[in-house]
Amino acid sequence: MSSHRALRDVVDQYYGPLRQPAGTAPVAWVSAFAPVEILRAMGLACFYPESYAATCSARGLGREMISVSSQRGLGRDVCSYARIFYGAVWDGLGPLGSLPRPDLLIATNNQCGTIPAWWESLQESYGVPLFTVDYPREQEGLTPETLEYIRLQHRGVVDIARQVSGADLDPDVLARVVGLSRRASDAWSRILELRARPRFQGEVRTMIDALFPIVVLRGTEACAHYYEVLYAEMARKPEGDAVRPRILWYGYPCWFLPGRVILPRVKRGRIVADTYTRWWVFDFQSADVWEGLSRVYGLTYLNRSPAEKVREVEALVSEYDIDAVLIHSNRSCKRVASAENLVLQRLENLGIPSVRFEGDMADPTWHGGGSAEACVSALLEILGN
Ligand code: SF4
Repeated sequence: MSSHRALRDVVDQYYGPLRQPAGTAPVAWVSAFAPVEILRAMGLACFYPESYAATCSARGLGREMISVSSQRGLGRDVCSYARIFYGAVWDGLGPLGSLPRPDLLIATNNQCGTIPAWWESLQESYGVPLFTVDYPREQEGLTPETLEYIRLQHRGVVDIARQVSGADLDPDVLARVVGLSRRASDAWSRILELRARPRFQGEVRTMIDALFPIVVLRGTEACAHYYEVLYAEMARKPEGDAVRPRILWYGYPCWFLPGRVILPRVKRGRIVADTYTRWWVFDFQSADVWEGLSRVYGLTYLNRSPAEKVREVEALVSEYDIDAVLIHSNRSCKRVASAENLVLQRLENLGIPSVRFEGDMADPTWHGGGSAEACVSALLEILGN
């Protein structure tokens, strides 16, 4: 089977249960780093509002939906995923048509402070139960006490899912679902290792778009299978010429751009790596399933300390043999922006040229005026292109 076919299976499996008539299977609306394995093991279908907003932006619908939410009073400083999503909710716009009605809302604070507030307002709109999973902030590591605290939070997810679905959690089913998430993540990690080869020929857009299954369908056979097939295909890909300069993209993609990042018009060189695709490598290796879940969701990329984010950039510079770094300072996402100054400082110490430009992952109106492209040109000039 090709990865295109495997991706079609993923799409069918994600949207299929969400298109069924209300009441067929309970639907949870979840944030991107929710411990979704627990919900899947209990038979709930999961829908991801952030991913939906990214899809809308990638299909050129962001502006229209943002205009709807602006007219209803959502200001420009609110995260553009929320503004786009509310545009879709309020106007019934969007690639899915009418959205599946939630039976349960699961928010987490392991990525930002926006999500809990966003999900609270969803609860006001839909009047269904909400559980916000609380993870201790900005982690360098996890103490036994923290792990126990997160385990209890996850038991809270079980309790509320049971109230909604009437189903109990079977520990064997949970172990199987977590095993599927682990297979997907391991295969994705191997793909990113391939990408570090000097002659690897993958486009940035291909890599970023390939994230869809691990975002929306972790814990399923279709998702694990997709990455295993994709890895096999990429490992067979013929190698091309080695390129220089090798550029690292730091931060979110810009979903509305055809290449998902600003593709530099260079005589030589290209973007060979990005930080965003690394966020979706999860370490599920643990003898104890509950501890594995606590580690993965307690230490999401966005919940790590700024110092840890700096260390990660340093590791990527070395692993991908990076010559320069392009920093996308995302207007929407303060949690990512908080580490940028430290990253810039560290790159300067390492002698790696970098430029930072202001943009947004989903709202094209922050990207106007050609300033971002000008920053890229400046970087290339520094590199002698
Ligand atoms: S603020 Fe950042 S982490 Fe939070 S929903 Fe928006 S983009 Fe995602």
